[in-house]
Amino acid sequence: MIPASFDYLAPTSVEEAVAALSQHGDDAKILAGGQSLLPVMRMRLNAPEVVIDLGRIDAMRGVRDDGDALVVGAMTTHATMEHDPLVEEHALLVHQAVEHLADLQIRHRGTFGGALAHADPAGDLGAPALALGAQFVIVGPGGTRTVEAADFFVDLFETAIGDDEILLEVRLPKHTGWGAHYEKFVRVAHQWPIVAVAATVRMEGGAIAEAAVGLTNMGSTPIRAHAVEAALVGQPATEEAVGAAAAAATEGTNAPSDLNGDSAYRNHLAQVLTRRAVLAAAGADTLTGAGAR
Ligand SMILES: Cc1cc2nc3c(=O)[nH]c(=O)nc-3n(C[C@H](O)[C@H](O)[C@H](O)COP(=O)(O)OP(=O)(O)OC[C@H]3O[C@@H](n4cnc5c(N)ncnc54)[C@H](O)[C@@H]3O)c2cc1C
Repeated sequence: MIPASFDYLAPTSVEEAVAALSQHGDDAKILAGGQSLLPVMRMRLNAPEVVIDLGRIDAMRGVRDDGDALVVGAMTTHATMEHDPLVEEHALLVHQAVEHLADLQIRHRGTFGGALAHADPAGDLGAPALALGAQFVIVGPGGTRTVEAADFFVDLFETAIGDDEILLEVRLPKHTGWGAHYEKFVRVAHQWPIVAVAATVRMEGGAIAEAAVGLTNMGSTPIRAHAVEAALVGQPATEEAVGAAAAAATEGTNAPSDLNGDSAYRNHLAQVLTRRAVLAAAGADTLTGAGAR
């Protein structure tokens, strides 16, 4: 279907974009890579009168090293995140999740900020961002503010970004030297995950010293598996110890039921995938050996 007609604005600075958003309010919609917004507009599920394209704001693109964190411009594409050596070195979990996100074409158009702002509970980037303790820098008419990952995802397709605000950049605290693995369960390649688990661990003396685990599609927002993380600390990376910790993966979750699987099936998946993801992150997965660096 062809979208309803709309006015198109293409500001070249963040200030111009914020001003345009303030001026048009509820009638306007931000356009990033368009990989979620355009399908919705074509189905006429959303018909903004004004579309504000951020694509000409160069300052919103790229990854930079800011000491203890990487700063990712919201308009940085998935493909850039996939190939940027800083991301692979300091935020391996994001690098791995992006590798499994949709297909090549979508990764070349879709953006890191757009995917997080869209807040699809099945989106592949929310759980890694949550697990890494990302901070979201949001700009609006009153200036910028920073929101912690735990407060950013509010509900299904809803974030802490206000109607007159734009996600400017995301700060990813460095997890240099941590093993990481994103375990995504799909029926066919390039699909959205039925359930996925993002795990990153720091090993010390043969045991797990620190762990961070995020769950995808186990509720209306990405969920941090705090009970699993606590149970992993001090444990060796063995099937038995990690499997016992992974049993807590459903704590605090509210898995949906849909045509891909009911909530009981997803609960089972969460436990199995958590065990696999943590073992791989710890470098103990003999099948893939995927996580350890
Ligand atoms: C066929 C297909 C398969 C896909 N498979 C997957 C998958 O497996 N896993 C996955 O995670 N994703 C998948 N995606 C989605 C993809 O990741 C998109 O890139 C992403 O969801 C949206 O990013 P975008 O840059 O295209 O944003 P857009 O579509 O341009 O925008 C999405 C929403 O976010 C808002 N927005 C965008 N940027 C900002 C900003 N800076 N500040 C405030 N609001 C903003 C927009 O107004 C809009 O409401 C798929 C998409 C398609 C079409």
